[in-house]
Amino acid sequence: MAITNKYVKSVYNDLKKRYKTQPEFLEAAGVVLETIEPIVAANEELYKKNAILERIVEPERTIMFRVTWMDDKGKVRVNRGYRVQYNSAIGPYKGGLRLHPSVNLSILKFLGFEQVFKNSLTTLPMGGGKGGSDFDPKGKSDAEVMRFCQSFMTELVKHVGPDTDVPAGDIGTGAREIGYMYGQYKRLMNEHTGVLTGKNLLVGGSLARKEATGYGLCYCVDAMLRDNKKSFKGKTVVVSGSGNVAIYATEKATELGAKVVALSDSNGYIYDPEGIDLDLVKQIKEQERGRIKEYADRCKHKGVKYHPSTEKDYSIWSVKCDIALPCATQNEIKASDAELLAKNGCFAVGEGANMPSVPEAIEIYHNKGILFIPGKASNAGGVAVSGLEMSQNSERLSWSFEEVDAKLKGIMENIYANVASYAKKYDVKTPAGKYNLVAGANMAGFDKVAQAMIWEGVAY
Ligand code: NDP
Repeated sequence: MAITNKYVKSVYNDLKKRYKTQPEFLEAAGVVLETIEPIVAANEELYKKNAILERIVEPERTIMFRVTWMDDKGKVRVNRGYRVQYNSAIGPYKGGLRLHPSVNLSILKFLGFEQVFKNSLTTLPMGGGKGGSDFDPKGKSDAEVMRFCQSFMTELVKHVGPDTDVPAGDIGTGAREIGYMYGQYKRLMNEHTGVLTGKNLLVGGSLARKEATGYGLCYCVDAMLRDNKKSFKGKTVVVSGSGNVAIYATEKATELGAKVVALSDSNGYIYDPEGIDLDLVKQIKEQERGRIKEYADRCKHKGVKYHPSTEKDYSIWSVKCDIALPCATQNEIKASDAELLAKNGCFAVGEGANMPSVPEAIEIYHNKGILFIPGKASNAGGVAVSGLEMSQNSERLSWSFEEVDAKLKGIMENIYANVASYAKKYDVKTPAGKYNLVAGANMAGFDKVAQAMIWEGVAY
């Protein structure tokens, strides 16, 4: 970590002393602090006077609680529940609930801290937070999941509300879990309000939420391409994953004139030189919950090939493309994959997943002049439409698909313009002379929150 500014360094050193046992949080805080140095240097006295850095790295409130529930055999089980309410300067806390055995305070602080900046970038009035539990819904019966969710919400209800804190889904928290939590909230509070997003359409969920992250990614990447006198039209695209984000990124990239030639799952990738038949992918993945391999067995296109992940030197990024959209998982693009992309002439990478590129890969994009927009900005479409779900719930109205999609497009184009303008304003460039959008995203997200904190006085 190459932090040079003395004020930034002292805040980071303090964090390192205080939170030795929170490696994920320390790493995330370090990267943000390092990349916002130019804006800190330009406003140092003001930030110091208001202790902005010291405050922004600390959550406003951290709630930790016991979640007791009974399994199907009548045994009493105990999990740990959390809600990290990180920053409410620009709106109610907003961020997902993760249910996974790996959940701990360090991971939730890392995710909550990142969420503050991502939410700020959406231009919507949403603060940042994150929560969850080390409960694992995998292998549990529906009844066990319901009892856990009810117990979890019985405590969480004291800390959330449509104008206070609005959680959403995340890993392990899908439509089923959101439903059980929402039901319990309603029962305890005797009110039907927008306390959670990602709800079923029947009870105030938003149209276009399913498409939001994938479509939003393409709207954002399209804005980046246009800013560099390029476009999706006629370009070859590789998308990794074949889940929610990947499917709708493929749909929108194709609509914008590109040809998507590869998709993957954790067992392997398919290559289709004629361009992916998305109806078949949706049938296999959304309807049948099958494996991507089946695409190669069933697709009528010529030259379709399946590559299992057990192949020697396996990498979906070895497929020649102009634009790469990683939409599967974290750390899926290693330095060697980034080298392959560069060697094959890829000129743009837009992240649909959260942190799919390892830091060394980002360094390679930056050194080789590949246009790169980080997930914090380019995958914010999901949380943006969650914000629009909150607006619809407040109005007690449901907007049409077209209305939500048009707003999403506007938000994503705005995010790109804002990120690029911060990189330009503070003249932060990559070694290849392109504007550094990683620094642009962090500075743009940070600036809005910092200004709001100063405006509100020493409230927290
Ligand atoms: P899904 O679970 O719907 O899909 C994930 C896909 O990635 C699956 O096809 C999965 O395959 C594949 N995958 C997982 N690990 C690997 C691997 N090691 N190699 C290749 N493929 C792999 O998730 P989403 O599409 O919702 O999310 C994808 C990413 O986007 C995640 O990082 C998520 O955090 C992020 N994200 C999602 C948002 C959303 O709105 N959905 C919002 C913002 C970010 P398999 O079926 O074999 O596991």
